[in-house]
Amino acid sequence: MADIIQLLPDHVANQIAAGEVVQRPSSVVKELLENAIDAGASNIQLLIKEAGKTLIQVSDDGNGMSETDARLCFERHATSKIKLAEDLFQLKTKGFRGEALASIAAIAHVDLKTKLAGEEVGTEIKINGTRVESQEPCVTPKGTVVSVKNLFFNIPARRNFLKSNAVETRHVIDEFQRVALSHPQIAFSLYHNGNEMFQLPISNHRQRIVNVFGAKTNEKLVPVEETTEILKVEGFVGKPEFAKRSKGEQFFFVNDRFIKSPYLNHAVTAAFDGLLKEKAYPSYFLYLSIDPQRIDINIHPTKTEIKFDDEHALYAILRSAIKHSLGQFNVAPILDFER
Ligand code: ADP
Ligand code: MG
Repeated sequence: MADIIQLLPDHVANQIAAGEVVQRPSSVVKELLENAIDAGASNIQLLIKEAGKTLIQVSDDGNGMSETDARLCFERHATSKIKLAEDLFQLKTKGFRGEALASIAAIAHVDLKTKLAGEEVGTEIKINGTRVESQEPCVTPKGTVVSVKNLFFNIPARRNFLKSNAVETRHVIDEFQRVALSHPQIAFSLYHNGNEMFQLPISNHRQRIVNVFGAKTNEKLVPVEETTEILKVEGFVGKPEFAKRSKGEQFFFVNDRFIKSPYLNHAVTAAFDGLLKEKAYPSYFLYLSIDPQRIDINIHPTKTEIKFDDEHALYAILRSAIKHSLGQFNVAPILDFER
């Protein structure tokens, strides 16, 4: 029998990996925003055209990259963020897989301009389906501008699978909001087809929430605060009378990363026990700090699910912290005849 096994060429491997990392324009948005944050940016601008289908551009004023790194960053498993497997348990960055740019470049036209602080000129590199088309010196401010054009140009099935511009824009805004809410110390803006949608100045958690969801939000927020040995909880829950009929403003952040957790959501809902009308969902913006040793965020490529060491303890702490806050703010049970 002849040998039939071959290693896949890089561009094929990248395209397969891209299937996991990049589902839609909003996935690209998330990766690029996170890279800008990891680069230490204090000002990040997101610009999209046609819901990100034709253009997604993120500009940051972060550290920038050298000429060589600007090429290397498109290689798979190329990262400046971890070196050893142990580092996975001490993560201080959003990224660590070294997969995003390689994946994105495999399925779009990418143009990256970047300059290190103190350099006279920067470098501009153009990539087309992992093929480097050109790299040249360029004039650009300190930091990085990544433009991703024509997403899925080489995978028609994926492109056709994208939803309407309205739906895809919603996904992009969701992703943008999640990132913006967890990093109030960074200024963010979002433009869609040339129109300004968000302009978020540097602020604190409360003010950022208000800037994202509107001035009326301010009076709805009840602060939550608790520090224990394994967990620190900060943030806000919405007063029960403002609970919504649809799940909307429900956010958990663990170590400044947005996560989904039906289990912790249950803890919050349990804390509202007796205060909510039936089929009403409380708003919450909860920022959890946990020793990175106690969590594993590597269970899913998009990192929105994480594994906790001691879920039951977290549940109990969270529920009691919220109960306490609601009690302090004298939130009375809502009786049906009051409405
Ligand atoms: P990861 O973020 O997991 O390391 P990426 O593919 O997203 O993988 O990025 C690869 C590398 O490129 C990063 O580790 C970083 O060194 C560099 N990089 C990416 N985006 C930026 C940026 N906006 N500014 C500076 N460096 C960047
Ligand atoms: Mg990254």
